[in-house]
Amino acid sequence: MHEPAIPSLTGADPEVARLVQAEARRQFEKVRLIASENYVSTAVLEATGSVLTNKYSEGYAGRRYYEGQQVIDPVEELAVARAKTLFGADHANVQPYSGSPANLAVYMAFLDPGDTVMGMALPAGGHLTHGWGVSATGKWFRSVQYGVRKETGVVDLDQVRDLARAERPKVIFCGGTAIPRTIDFPAFAEIANEVGAVLAADIAHIAGLVAGGAHPSPVGHAQVITTTTHKTLRGPRGAMILTDAAHAKAIDKAVFPGLQGGPHNHTTAAIAVALGEALEPSFGLYAHAIVQNARALAAALIERGFDLISGGTDNHLILVDLTTKAIGGKPAAKALDRAGIEANYNTVPFDPRKPFDPSGVRLGTAAITTRGLTTDHMPQIAEWIDRAIRAAEDEQELDRIAAEVADLMAGYPMPGWA
Ligand SMILES: *Cc1c(COP(=O)(O)O)cnc(C)c1O
Repeated sequence: MHEPAIPSLTGADPEVARLVQAEARRQFEKVRLIASENYVSTAVLEATGSVLTNKYSEGYAGRRYYEGQQVIDPVEELAVARAKTLFGADHANVQPYSGSPANLAVYMAFLDPGDTVMGMALPAGGHLTHGWGVSATGKWFRSVQYGVRKETGVVDLDQVRDLARAERPKVIFCGGTAIPRTIDFPAFAEIANEVGAVLAADIAHIAGLVAGGAHPSPVGHAQVITTTTHKTLRGPRGAMILTDAAHAKAIDKAVFPGLQGGPHNHTTAAIAVALGEALEPSFGLYAHAIVQNARALAAALIERGFDLISGGTDNHLILVDLTTKAIGGKPAAKALDRAGIEANYNTVPFDPRKPFDPSGVRLGTAAITTRGLTTDHMPQIAEWIDRAIRAAEDEQELDRIAAEVADLMAGYPMPGWA
């Protein structure tokens, strides 16, 4: 059963309540390896479900356009203070509705339409909002894109430098959604400084690792840092922008009134709770355990003959290249899902296949680490992945694996399930 219990919802709208319960059960029974997902604490769930959702508060603490901010102001100030402490940043804006609007605020703050932005190409591991063509950021701005080296699968900093010198972007984004290796923030900062660009580090995926000391911090290198709050950071769905003192005002103005209206105060409260949790010493252990699990899972997959982009991982994320396995990423992800192992199909760098059925599967260990799985479990998970991909057409075998998966996960508590 969903925990906290949902008796009012069950009485008022049994149809929605049944779906919520079904999702809670699904999350409990599966090995969830989607690299951008996690399980939030029940404290975060409660803050998200609170009456703070009833309140409008356009503006910032002390400078609002609506009355009745006696409680909302301290809630937002608490979230901001904790964000600044956790990351050691001069300034934090906790109002962006999610990661994509947070990145849009960077464009709003430092670029005019048609100006040049540089980001990592989506198929190389970047995000849509780093200037990819189908995104507003690629349509309304002049976007130049860097990639990874074919031989290593790692970002090509020589290409980044050459492109930056030739194209003189106003903003350079580093970071992405499918980067299994450490991001070299000092190297990006050197290039950005040389060409006079603002460096925006998008740490959506790795924010929890940065907070927990398991990945170097961009603070002091990137003037602007954007992040979601719901991936490795383990908070509610939302986002934050951290800046140095010089770039604070431009970002605040871009978020409100530039792009958004009223902030989602229930989310702000839940972000404050999650940041409070991340300030506990135990969060550092969690962040390091995520990386240890990813390394162990990567090693176990390599042992079973899987090709991993860049040959392994430094963080929470593994990008499996299935080119040599005679199966596409999509049927592989579907087989894994049927076998109780949730992942997403993903392009790999220089992918010969089409984006809707690419060659890769992306895996991440943030959620299973929250459940309490350790490096000892990773060979078993690699075995299930191997079996499921071999048995992609064999529904009985996939169901057998799903039963084994549910059996294991039944022993590991899930916040949000009792
Ligand atoms: C997830 C992600 C985003 C977007 O976040 P949404 O909340 O889904 O809009 C932006 N940048 C990166 C690098 C991400 O991984």
